Formats: sequence, structure tokens, C-alpha cells
Amino acid sequence: MKLCRFDNDRLGLIEDDYLYDVTAVLDRLPAHKYPLPSLDPFIANLDELRPHIETAREDAEKIPLQDVRLLSPVANPGKLIGAPVNYLKHFDESKEDAAIHHNQHLSDIRRIGLFLKATSSLAGPADGVRIRQPDRRNDHELELAVVIGKTADRISQESAFDYIAGYCIGLDMTTRGPEDRSFRKSIDTYSVLGPWFVTKDEIANASELDMSLTVNGEHRQKANTRDLVVGIAELIAWASSFYTLHPGDVIFTGTPEGVGPVVAGDTIEASIEQIGSMTVPVV
Ligand code: MN
Repeated sequence: MKLCRFDNDRLGLIEDDYLYDVTAVLDRLPAHKYPLPSLDPFIANLDELRPHIETAREDAEKIPLQDVRLLSPVANPGKLIGAPVNYLKHFDESKEDAAIHHNQHLSDIRRIGLFLKATSSLAGPADGVRIRQPDRRNDHELELAVVIGKTADRISQESAFDYIAGYCIGLDMTTRGPEDRSFRKSIDTYSVLGPWFVTKDEIANASELDMSLTVNGEHRQKANTRDLVVGIAELIAWASSFYTLHPGDVIFTGTPEGVGPVVAGDTIEASIEQIGSMTVPVV
């Protein structure tokens, strides 16, 4: 199942180049009182909602995808987790380019651990990436984004895939510079998720997906998730060994080589096999 959030927080079921507006299903979500839970209610209740989405599709309005504004498919993630230098060729290009490493210690991901991006940096394709520091270098980082489906507390690698709800394309946008990753990568709109959310059952092997990114039609990144240094299962297990993962938490699994700068006016096109493609303007 491919699901999107679009226009004014509506819910769409994607089929080919159309979506079915199944927003009414969201009325089934539980009402929450303060304090709000640190999870995404839609992702947390997805299994219960799926049959209702199928039913709602029967009478739903069918809308061409090109006519809607695509928002981040996960609305309220509790955590946005990043994996630094998780492809060897990106490690090599970072070592060689002072504009990327800024004399910060570049090291094995297993030594430096994961990082967090502010949830306020979340954006969808239609929001675009809004450059806040135009005098600095601002890079695209194409990444497979894994969305957690159920609470994971110190789980094993062997069971890790049971905790996945699905996948999106992620852009871990980055201002280069000497500051901590959590600062430079948390600028508003610097965590793009899209174009929609693909449930886990649609993707037979997430550890072998081609992905590519162009800027203004120029090829920048091309890789396959099989080259991840720390793979998907290990990332989930490792993250959960430090903090509990909740439904809707997103893990940006790391970027391959080919990162490069974007400026206002550019157009990013990002694709991952079996998920789709998204066009993201830089403004
Ligand atoms: Mn990254």
C-alpha cells in the first residue's frame, strides 16, 4: 500500500498516477489528551486502519497525483534519526573534501554513533527546501528512510524488520560547516520525506534498492542500499539499544557518494526503486 498526506492534511491511497482520497478514515484515530504521546498516531494505528482504507477506496474521489501538493507522509514523528557516513565511498569523498569534513573527526560510524535531527525540520516534497544560510554550502543527501511501526526497546537485529512499518525517500539536507550535525541538519525543511509512504509488505528486500538523485537534470548520486556499512536491521537494533523507538520514528539510513551543493532555484529529483520519485524545489 502506498499512502500519502496531501493538500490540507488529507490522506491518499496511491495507485499508479492517481490517488484515492480516503481522508475520512482518519476520523478513526484515537483522540489524545495532554500529554500527547511521542508517536505518530497514523503509523501506530496503521494495521487497524488498512481494511478501512480499502473500504473507503470504493467510493473515494480519484485525483491525478499531479494535481495535489504532497506533504511529509509521516506527520508527527517523535524522532528523526540520522546515520553518519554509512557508505564507504561517501566516507572517502568526505575525507578528501575540506568543504564537507571541516576538520571534524571523520570516523567509523560504529565509533561515533547515530545523530538526531529536530522534528521541526520535517518537510514534504511540495514544501521544498528553503535555504536559510545562502552564504554556506548546502548539500543534498539522498537516503532510504525507514519508518518504525511499533515500539522497539533493545531489540535484536534478527527481529528488527518486524518493527518496520514502511519506507520513504529521505533527503537529509545539510549545511556544511564546523557545527554539530544536529545543528546543521535541523534547519526548517532540511528533512524531506516523500513522495509517499510505502508499507513494508510492498518491498521484498529493502537492503537491495537502487537509488538516484539529480539536480536540474544533472546526475549527482547513484547507489544501492546493499552498500550500507551498517545495514537496516543493525541500525534499528543499535538505535533501540540506546533509546526506545516509537511508531513513526524515522531512520535516515545514510547517504552514498555524490553529495553536492544546491542553491535557490534548483530542482532536486530523487528516486528509490520500488518506492517512486519525488521532485523537490529549492527555494
Ligand atoms: Mn545523511
